[in-house]
Amino acid sequence: MNRNKREKEYYSLDVGDSTFTVLKRYQTLRPIGSGAQGIVCSAYDHNLERNVAIKKLSRPFQNQTHAKRAYRELVLMKCVNHKNIIGLLNVFTPQKSLEEFQDVYIVMELMDANLCQVIQMELDHERLSYLLYQTLCGIKHLHSAGIIHRDLKPSNIVVKSDCTLKILDFGLARTAATGLLMTPYVVTRYYRAPEVILGMGYQANVDVWSIGCIMAEMVRGSVLFPGTDHIDQWNKVIEQLGTPSQEFLMKLNQSVRTYVENRPRYAGYTFEKLFPDVLFPADSEHNKLKASQARDLLSKMLVIDASKRISVDEALQHPYINVWYDPAEVEAPPPLITDKQLDEREHTVEEWKELIYKEVHDCEERTKNGVIRGQPASLGAAVINGSQHPSSSSSVNDVSSMSTDPTLASDTDSSLETSAGPLGCCR
Ligand code: AMP
Repeated sequence: MNRNKREKEYYSLDVGDSTFTVLKRYQTLRPIGSGAQGIVCSAYDHNLERNVAIKKLSRPFQNQTHAKRAYRELVLMKCVNHKNIIGLLNVFTPQKSLEEFQDVYIVMELMDANLCQVIQMELDHERLSYLLYQTLCGIKHLHSAGIIHRDLKPSNIVVKSDCTLKILDFGLARTAATGLLMTPYVVTRYYRAPEVILGMGYQANVDVWSIGCIMAEMVRGSVLFPGTDHIDQWNKVIEQLGTPSQEFLMKLNQSVRTYVENRPRYAGYTFEKLFPDVLFPADSEHNKLKASQARDLLSKMLVIDASKRISVDEALQHPYINVWYDPAEVEAPPPLITDKQLDEREHTVEEWKELIYKEVHDCEERTKNGVIRGQPASLGAAVINGSQHPSSSSSVNDVSSMSTDPTLASDTDSSLETSAGPLGCCR
C-alpha cells in the first residue's frame, strides 16, 4: 500500500504510559485492562458499528518468551472459532515495513469484565454452574485441537453481563517449563496444578484442577491456594488437601521427591470443612441439593493425583454441570491448527520479527477479504523453517515432559478499571 495512504489511515493517542496508534475506524479508546503483554482498550469500531477490545503488543519479538507467546496467540486465535474462546476481529500494525515494524494491535470481541471481578459477587447456583459449564466447553474445544492450557486463571477469563463467558488466551506452550525448582518469576501460580508446580508430565485434566481452583474461589470469595511463591504454592495445597500418598510421590523425579518428602505431613481437611454450607445459597431443598452437588464436583476436581482426578468430559457430565449440556457447544468440530510446530519453535529475535510481521500481514489481507478465522495460515512459518508440512503433531492424550528452560513470562495481572454490570440472567 502507498505509504502516505497508510499513514493517513492511523491516528495516535496516549493511554496511560503507552501510545496507541490505531486505524481511524477505531474511536473512543478507553483502558480496560492490562496483562503481561500490554494494555487493553475498549473502542468503538465505525466499520462494524460495535464496541471492540484492542490489545497492543509492544515489540512482541523483543525476546523468546514474548515472541513465542505473541506468535502462538496470533496463529491460534485465527484457527479457533468457538463461542467460549475470545473471537478475533482484526489485527494490524501501523508500521509500514519489516524494518520499521514495532507493534501489533489485536482487535477482539469486547466483554464486560474478567472473572476476578465476578468472584467478588455472590453467585447463585444457576450462574455459578453456567460459568463453569462454559469454561469447560471452551477448554474441551482447545483440548480437541491438542492445546492443553495449563495456566487458566480468572484474569484470563472474561464475561458479559448476560452471563456468557470466553477464555482469553491459550496458556503455556508445551515447551514452556514451570516446576518447583525454577526461578520464581512474577507469575500468578495460584491456579496451577500440582503436576505443573512439581514439573511432572501432564495430561488434559491438568486444566480441571485450575477450573476447580476458580470454582472454589467463586464459592469462598478468596483465593483457595494463595502461595506467595512457587514453593509456598505447594505448601498451601498440602495444608488443605493433605500430603499425597506414597503412590503419588513415586511419580516425582528424585530431587522434587526429596523436597516433597521433607515437608511436614498434613492430614488435610474434608470437603465439608473446606466448603461448609454457609458458603453456598442453601435456603431451599433445591439449593441444598445443588450445594451438595457443587461440593461433590469440587472434591472430584481438586485431587492432587491427576490419575485420580475427574476428566473434562466427566466434569461436563456431572449433575451440577450437565443441566446446561448442549452437544453443539460441547462437541463442536475441532479447530485445525495450521502450524503444527507452534510450540517447538525456537528463533532469533530477527526471525521472530519476520514471522510475526508475516502473520500480521496475513491477518490484514484476510480482513480485507472479510475472513480472518478458520482458513489456512500464511506461509510465514514455513518460509523461516524451509518446510511447509512439519510432521510433529500433538494429542491431548500425550503425556509431555517438561523441558528445564525457565520461563521468562511475567504476568502482573493488574487489571485497570472495567465496568462490570451485575451478571444478568442465564439462558
Ligand atoms: P490480557 O492482556 O489478554 O491478559 O488481558 C488483560 C486484561 O484486559 C484482562 O484480564 C481483562 O480484564 C481485559 N481484557 C482483555 N481482553 C478483553 C476483552 N476482549 N474484553 C474485555 N476485557 C478484556
